[in-house]
Amino acid sequence: MDIPANRLEDIRAIMALFEEPGSLAGGGVTRLGYGPVEDEMHRLFRDWGERNDLIAYTDAVGNSYLENDAASLAADNGKACVLIGSHLDSVVSGGRFDGVAGVAAGMACLKWLKESGLNIPLRVAAFRCEESASFGRSTVGSGLVTGAVDGDDIAAFQNPEGRSLAEVFDEAGYDLHPQRIEGIEAYFELHIEQGKVLENLGKEVGIVEAIAGPRRFRIVIDGQADHSGATPMDMRSDALCAAAELILAIEKIGQSERRFQGVATVGIIKNSPNVMNVIPGWTELGVDTRGISAASLDRMEERLRISAENIARERGVEISMVRQYEDLPRAMAPQLMDQLEQAARSLGVSSHRMMSGAGHDALGFAEIVPTAMLFIPCRGGISHNAAEFTTAESITTGALMLYEALTRRYTEE
Ligand SMILES: [Zn+2]
Repeated sequence: MDIPANRLEDIRAIMALFEEPGSLAGGGVTRLGYGPVEDEMHRLFRDWGERNDLIAYTDAVGNSYLENDAASLAADNGKACVLIGSHLDSVVSGGRFDGVAGVAAGMACLKWLKESGLNIPLRVAAFRCEESASFGRSTVGSGLVTGAVDGDDIAAFQNPEGRSLAEVFDEAGYDLHPQRIEGIEAYFELHIEQGKVLENLGKEVGIVEAIAGPRRFRIVIDGQADHSGATPMDMRSDALCAAAELILAIEKIGQSERRFQGVATVGIIKNSPNVMNVIPGWTELGVDTRGISAASLDRMEERLRISAENIARERGVEISMVRQYEDLPRAMAPQLMDQLEQAARSLGVSSHRMMSGAGHDALGFAEIVPTAMLFIPCRGGISHNAAEFTTAESITTGALMLYEALTRRYTEE
């Protein structure tokens, strides 16, 4: 699409606001959740709102919000508004666009509504601690206020400094058991794709159909550690060789679910004793499977179990498998996906329906209100890395899509 120069300039100016905090000498940023740099990012967000005559506030867990007068009026009358949100924290040595692009898009929509004089109620959120880099748990801020995360489950989680979330909350005056967020009728989130699909297809935006649910396993292989020189090849129970077979089987399992957008990855391998002249006696694998349907996840788990049993039998090792973590896939609201598609059509933006393999703040909202996500391409699919990059044009295109969907939503009703 042809992007109006003034809209592009707005996005550039908003992104520039967030440039400095946590900047690293080699490029990239570190803005850990509930740390001082994230605090500064939230202060910049609220200050911008106040300068632009918006209402700025913080909730009981430190999430920041900006809203227009129409949103406040709606709340006073017991009516709901649209919420656009994302996060301002990052991983260690992360990029400047993951999260920030989505918050910036929401801020631009608030500005454009004000300039156009449209009385559309909009709230924009900057959520805390979306990345698990700080406390080992993702979507903390949005999860707590949507009820997707239970404060008791994460109170003892520690940041890299060894401070627990409970301590940090106490000190800041936050509450691990906040009231659930209210007055929202729809949630939209723009985010960089963090993959290469849009770039490879040459599409300007992705309309997310579902956020994949992860299912993670710890697999332990018990063989027999023996002398690597003195043990003939036919008298071995080599745990690492069994693991090698299993790793390739897991790759095939992921490939077999490709048409259902399933993926399977072995991301962790530990080997013992891990010395040159001993046959490995013990190997551990960490397996991450993701899918957008429970049936697909079930199939992968079942095939994983069967592969492990077969390999154990053939190789004379013991293989145990424990499901460590599971989150359900979340479907996005069809009506909101349609609104985004209509917005794309009317703006002449090329779009592609796709799934999100990564989790986002939208996860918690999908449980309580109609929720939609819009992806924009990022260069080379690189994210969680100093090299992460997307153009101001892409962010503006996405922001204009949200703005179009928002204005259509209210003018058509
Ligand atoms: Zn993110």
